[in-house]
Amino acid sequence: MGMERRKVTFKLYPTSSQLKRLDGWVRLHAELYNAALQERIEAYRKAGISISYYDQQNTLPAIKAFRPDLVELGSHALQETLRRLDRAFQAFFRRVKAGQSPGFPRFKSSSRFSGFTYPDPAGWKLLQQGARGGTLRLGSGKGAMMIRLRGRHRFAEFTPNDLTLLRRRNPATGEDQWHASITLRVPETACARQRTSEDQVGIDFGLAHWANFDDGSQTDNPRWLREALPRLADLQRQRARKKPGSHRYRQLSQQIARLHQRIADRRRDFIHQQTSALVQRCALIATEALAPQNMSRSARGTVEAPGRRVRQKAGLNREVLSVGFGMAHQMLTYKAQEAGSVLHLAHTRQLKPSQRCSGCWAMVPKALKERWHLCPHCGCSLPRDQNSARVVLLDAWTPQDTPGTGVAARLKPLPAQAGKPRSKTRETPTTTASAV
Ligand SMILES: [Zn+2]
Repeated sequence: MGMERRKVTFKLYPTSSQLKRLDGWVRLHAELYNAALQERIEAYRKAGISISYYDQQNTLPAIKAFRPDLVELGSHALQETLRRLDRAFQAFFRRVKAGQSPGFPRFKSSSRFSGFTYPDPAGWKLLQQGARGGTLRLGSGKGAMMIRLRGRHRFAEFTPNDLTLLRRRNPATGEDQWHASITLRVPETACARQRTSEDQVGIDFGLAHWANFDDGSQTDNPRWLREALPRLADLQRQRARKKPGSHRYRQLSQQIARLHQRIADRRRDFIHQQTSALVQRCALIATEALAPQNMSRSARGTVEAPGRRVRQKAGLNREVLSVGFGMAHQMLTYKAQEAGSVLHLAHTRQLKPSQRCSGCWAMVPKALKERWHLCPHCGCSLPRDQNSARVVLLDAWTPQDTPGTGVAARLKPLPAQAGKPRSKTRETPTTTASAV
């Protein structure tokens, strides 16, 4: 049976003594990381030798004999921290080779070290109790920590794969929050979702509204996001006036980073909710395929290079909101498969949904600022985004070998809204799910 990977995240509720211990463990991991970095630097400086991950891994038992406080962290978790350093070096060398000038891997202060990872199911266990809560056991025997957590994942059958403990400072209270991010291996059958309806929808994801549907309905961007964006723009404007490196500049950078983090967290929740609801109600979901640059663009880019890239409010909004498109596509892809729904990704360049008339299939060129579609050929008159959503839905209904090919030659009638064909549901998705 095929297995899928699914990442689930829980908020942890450590007691104050557990909190102290977790902080201590992070400090030890940070210490190990920095010591290993130091060793690599010195070996290179003094002897021109590069030390590999395996060299460092092999010295771990000796280090543990000398430092028994490391033992309870678990040898695999310690190895993973060494691997983390190794990955930083590999990324560094890759960029050097590519002719870039990356920063050398840096020492990390233990207060800013983000956490640690158990790369396999050894040394921890997730115990679920009842519908809402559970316990995470770290370590074993008498010294094991039993940490309360809230939430529950939806898989009845699963094999735990790895665990990352993440420490993040809550920007509102200044207190540390701990999360457990767990990868589960889940049998394909256990991933299945219940579909409660057989709707067929075309969607145009946008900036003004999160989603525009073919029937003219819309889902707005959540209110908190609409409110956070002007605030973000304002902070960035303020920072642009400060001297880089000054106290105020750093303060503002911190505020901006926090706000970005909060936006990223809540946006993910929102998109999870929306995409789950969509695949639950829809047998067919049609939308445009995404250009690759939209998929890979991350909010982090705006944190690192904010002054230049997000000068204008519109640019900032596009930057922040378009990250969600890739995320929505990714979630729709695997959730549609789990629900047995079809996700149709129309070929944007060939289909040109925003320029095509959903009434007569003629090309009706319009500039980006024209928000209304009025067809001179058939008189079709619709909001621009609704027209696009209808075009991608019609594209999905057209039998075709390669999505989006030859569409211009084909004349499609506009079906009456009420009489949408409730045609057969293909059970196999047109795309393959990417593991999350
Ligand atoms: Zn027309």
